[in-house]
Formats: sequence, structure tokens, C-alpha cells
Amino acid sequence: MVQSKDLETVSESITPFKQKLGAPLIKHPIRVLQINLGRRCNLTCTHCHVEAGPTRIEELSPEVCSQLIELIQKFPQIETVDLTGGAPEMNYGFKPIVESARASGKAVIVRSNLTIFFEPGYEDLPEYFATQQLRVVASLPCYLEENVDTMRGKGVYDDSIRAIQRLNQLGYGANPELQLDLVYNPAVPTTDSFSLTPNQQTLENSYKTYLSEHFGIAFNNLFTITNLPIGRTKFHLNHRHLHQPYLKFLESNYNANTVEHLMCRDQLSVDYLGNVYDCDFNQMENLSAKTPEGDNLTVSKLLEAGTLNQIEEIVTAPFCYGCTAGSGSSCGGSLL
Ligand code: SF4
Ligand code: SF4
Repeated sequence: MVQSKDLETVSESITPFKQKLGAPLIKHPIRVLQINLGRRCNLTCTHCHVEAGPTRIEELSPEVCSQLIELIQKFPQIETVDLTGGAPEMNYGFKPIVESARASGKAVIVRSNLTIFFEPGYEDLPEYFATQQLRVVASLPCYLEENVDTMRGKGVYDDSIRAIQRLNQLGYGANPELQLDLVYNPAVPTTDSFSLTPNQQTLENSYKTYLSEHFGIAFNNLFTITNLPIGRTKFHLNHRHLHQPYLKFLESNYNANTVEHLMCRDQLSVDYLGNVYDCDFNQMENLSAKTPEGDNLTVSKLLEAGTLNQIEEIVTAPFCYGCTAGSGSSCGGSLL
């Protein structure tokens, strides 16, 4: 059964997220524009919630790219443009969007898998990132080689370390204008002994100590991100009959203090077709953001309306429990 603003199809044993909230999840003024440029990626990680890979061909069209550039230039309230994918660098529109956003004075985040630096044609990316002063957010799901290579593929750890060393040489992690943040993703559960993501600050300290001692690496912040049961993660959970138990576990760790800080509050997430969502997770599950009239929102409708504030209530679903469990989770890590 699909309710108006809350997809609740999982099970009677899971409390509908909207019911748990006790009130509609209201959108705040938009500050962040996150753009998923497409599904092309040089890796195929097991935890990938967008199911990206080298054989995927979906990417931004020139028309949507122009609309996004217009949106970025037109609305000063957009403080940050957050580029993701796939590997955003491999998808059409990456550099034009970066350059128009930077020229408009926005902060730009690139969510890079780092190994892209070693693919033919992308070797100049570290210098490009530094020249444009992009904030790099890079996935390194563990500081130990075996765990990273199991999740992301053989050799990924070595390439990631070499890439971070290259960024450090350019000033990332030391120069305040060149910020490098790493992302910790837990492994997808394989038994019902679920656990919450570790304490972010404690894990950051462990990463910093280990990576500095072994490789002389420096970075700014570590973001811990909870696995949401969508995409490949949901597939793997379903395969082991763990989807329902995992949702129940997340629900049992619901923390109402996270709600005010959820990233969907002040963010728009746009796909390569120009459709608008409340967050990247809703985008992957094809849950479009709605206007108060109930219409699906698009970038062209935002341009036509002349305002970004077209959403009253955020669309929620059972997987939202992944964002509210424990200390909470977002693309910027823990919420508390
Ligand atoms: S690098 Fe990122 S986008 Fe690419 S497959 Fe891995 S998780 Fe997905
Ligand atoms: S998945 Fe998380 S960020 Fe997205 S709508 Fe639900 S609570 Fe908000």
C-alpha cells in the first residue's frame, strides 16, 4: 500500500516511519543541491546503493546540464553543490557544473572513489580538484587493506592510498581551502548480529593514527555512514532473509534527536534526467519529491516556478530508519 507521502510496504512488524515521527517531516529552505550525474563508475562495490558500474551508460544530458547550471546561477540560497554518481568525474557535465558553481561562489563537493585517478584520461583530476578548490569526500570503508579489497575489489586499497598521498602532496588535508574527508561504510550484514556504525570520533582517531603511521597520510574528517537497506545492500539482505530483521533493528535504535538534522531537510537531490528527490536514497528508490499539489518535481518546474521552495513535506519510507538509528547518518556522516 502506498500512502500519500510515505511508502510503507514492508511489514506490519515495522512501525511506519511517518507514524514514528508523529508529525510530517517538513522541508526547510534549500541550501544544498546534490546532483547524481549518472551511473557510470570504474568500480562495482558490494555496498553500492546506486548499483553503479563500468557497463552502466545512464548519464546527464546536455539539456539537463544546462538547466542545472541555470539553477545554480539563479539561486544564491544554494550554498553547496554536491556531485555524486557513479563516479561523477566519468559522467557528462562534471567539469561544466563544477566551473559554473565555483564561478558563482558555491562550495563544491566531489564524492570521488579516488581510484578513478588511475584510469586512462583521468590522471589530471587531482590537480583539477586543487585548482577548483573542490572539497573531496572519498570512500575508504576501512583503514585495513583486506576489508577494503573485499568490499570494493582487489587493488582498490593500494590505489586509494596512492591517491590520498597525491592529494596530500597538493595540500589536501593541510591547506584549509583543500578539504579531504573520508567515508566509512560498514560491511553489509551477513548474520542477524547487527550493530550500529561505530562512534565517528573514535573511528576517525583510529583511521588517522593508522594511516599516518603506515603511509604518512593526513585527512580532515571521517564520516560514518549507515548502510540503508536499498539497492545492492537490500539485495544482499534479502538473499539471506535479513531485510526485515535489519529494518527492525534500525527501528529499535530510533533516535528522535536526529530528526531535526536529517540531510533531506535542506537538500534537493537531482538525477541525470532532471527529476528532483528529497535525498539520494529516495532517488535510488524512485520516490520523487512532491509539490504541495502532489506533482512530481523536476528541475524545469523549479526554474519555471522561480523558487526552490516547492516542497512542503518530505517523502519518507521504512529505510529512513537507517538515517535515524543511533547517532544518525547522512552523506556528511553522523548527525549528532
Ligand atoms: S565507487 Fe561508489 S558509485 Fe562506484 S560502485 Fe563503488 S559505491 Fe558505487
Ligand atoms: S532516507 Fe534519510 S535523508 Fe532520505 S528522506 Fe529518509 S530520512 Fe531523509
